[in-house]
Amino acid sequence: MSSTAPTPDSTADRIRRRGLMLVLSSPSGAGKTTISRRLLEQNPDVAMSVSVTTRQKRPGEVHGRDYFFIDPTEFNLMVNRGQLLEYAKVFDNYYGTPREAVEQSLRGGHDVLFDIDWQGTQQLRETARTDLVSVFILPPSAHELERRLTTRAQDSAEEIARRMAKANDEMSHWSEYDYVIVNHDIDDSVVAVQGILDTERLKRERQVGLSEFVRGLQAGF
Ligand code: 5GP
Repeated sequence: MSSTAPTPDSTADRIRRRGLMLVLSSPSGAGKTTISRRLLEQNPDVAMSVSVTTRQKRPGEVHGRDYFFIDPTEFNLMVNRGQLLEYAKVFDNYYGTPREAVEQSLRGGHDVLFDIDWQGTQQLRETARTDLVSVFILPPSAHELERRLTTRAQDSAEEIARRMAKANDEMSHWSEYDYVIVNHDIDDSVVAVQGILDTERLKRERQVGLSEFVRGLQAGF
């Protein structure tokens, strides 16, 4: 029998998995965006939550891929209509997670990746509870963070100084996360996050239909 052809008895037919919500947070420049991109390349079944924001688009950013860039009036409307799962003010701009896309992915059994700050993570933790897996990425040093922000060259010197000051504030929330990774090397960090995802997917309570599967398995003994 071919090992790829599913049979009526196959495990995949009987055990379904609830999608999980994987949150990555870090100060800007700690490598979170690169790690997210690599993770999505390696896991085509994972959906990225694309946030709405009132901040200006940076060079190279694409509306609908990096963010949905909207004005404050539209943002307020989304808040009032309950269309955001969470939202927060970061660096004088508003950011939020559109609810519908996330719920649709989770219902379809897909995991969803979030690049959001500690305020948003706290809000998701209250509503999502067991579906949430949170990872905090730390830079190896303040000097390295500043170097990365400067070589990214997308922000003014004034903006970089502000982000360095804000990084300290963001980092003070590291202990609220399930996992913490110091990003010394981007390849190693991607392997670490992939390991977290793989392990969390195997959690007993995320595998719906496991009891029925084991009962069927035992019936064959
Ligand atoms: P940036 O302007 O550099 O793209 O993002 C600034 C910060 O806002 C980052 O820490 C990022 O994780 C956070 N952020 C992006 N989208 C959201 C969101 O939808 N909700 C929250 N709470 N934070 C977000």
